[in-house]
Amino acid sequence: MVLGNYRKIVSARSTIPEVLKKSQDGGIVSTIFIYGLENRLLDGVIVSDNGGNFYTIPKVATTPEEVLEAAGTKYSISPNISVLKKAAREYGCEKIGVVGTPCQIRATRKLIKYPVGFRHIADKIALLIGIFCMENFPYEGLKIIVEELCGVKMDDVVKLDIGKGKFWVYTRWGETKAIKLKETHAFESSACHICTDYTAELADISTGSVGSPDGWSTVIIRTEKGEEIFNKMVEEGYFKIKPIEEVKPGLGLVEKLAKTKKDKNSKEIEHRKVLGII
Ligand SMILES: Cc1cc2nc3c(=O)[nH]c(=O)nc-3n(C[C@H](O)[C@H](O)[C@H](O)COP(=O)(O)OP(=O)(O)OC[C@H]3O[C@@H](n4cnc5c(N)ncnc54)[C@H](O)[C@@H]3O)c2cc1C
Ligand code: SF4
Repeated sequence: MVLGNYRKIVSARSTIPEVLKKSQDGGIVSTIFIYGLENRLLDGVIVSDNGGNFYTIPKVATTPEEVLEAAGTKYSISPNISVLKKAAREYGCEKIGVVGTPCQIRATRKLIKYPVGFRHIADKIALLIGIFCMENFPYEGLKIIVEELCGVKMDDVVKLDIGKGKFWVYTRWGETKAIKLKETHAFESSACHICTDYTAELADISTGSVGSPDGWSTVIIRTEKGEEIFNKMVEEGYFKIKPIEEVKPGLGLVEKLAKTKKDKNSKEIEHRKVLGII
């Protein structure tokens, strides 16, 4: 099972225009968090705010406006879990939603099981949303990719994206620059090379762009909790959905990429073991 356990997989897109203006793909993460806050299923959500020029700042959002401010992908490490205690102890949240890369979802699931150092926090985590992730970049590396390889000042960037084998930069002048993804490999975080989880296998709901058409997201519903909230939202009109079998490029591509990551990075794990560095 290269995608981990799941109940169902669909292609989906938010119906909230304000979300679609700011979100990376189909706006799945922001729409679920806004719905969760408005319906009191969640009272705080951990997101990655844009600290300016795509610098990441983990944030506890307690309003739909704050969720919207943090929408969109920042291709650099955002230590979201570092504000979990703050959510419970400073913001007094009892039902916390967390979005994170697969490694962060694993870390969160582990702390729920073994809450060493997280006493009285684990039972306050109400929903885990995982985003697909093949690799990530330290901020300095991201800056070199954008400014030196793509020739765009960080100040002028409105969106960054990875897809179709390329790294894309969208500017506020309406220009689009793209370089081949292989040119960015040297700047990847080396920890990502021993990571074997592409689709956030331990999340309640996982989502990414791969597998679905532009502007739509592939959504993997994994747990009862995830299914309950997602189904309710579809019934209430928050998402348009299509069977994953009816969209292109489809689930085959997600499976292929998930397998590639597992195979390649498992080899790197073995290599580092031989070197005695893990
Ligand atoms: C480093 C990285 C690599 C990715 N690689 C892939 C990939 O290979 N294939 C693929 O299909 N999708 C990938 N994604 C996921 C994709 O870019 C979108 O984040 C995902 O589809 C959710 O889009 P959305 O429109 O539903 O979310 P939105 O509604 O735009 O919300 C996105 C949420 O993610 C949070 N967030 C943004 N950046 C980070 C970050 N660095 N760390 C933690 N949280 C963050 C935001 O604060 C926001 O709450 C990657 C994301 C990241 C951060
Ligand atoms: S590749 Fe793995 S370790 Fe790197 S950010 Fe993504 S999930 Fe985390």
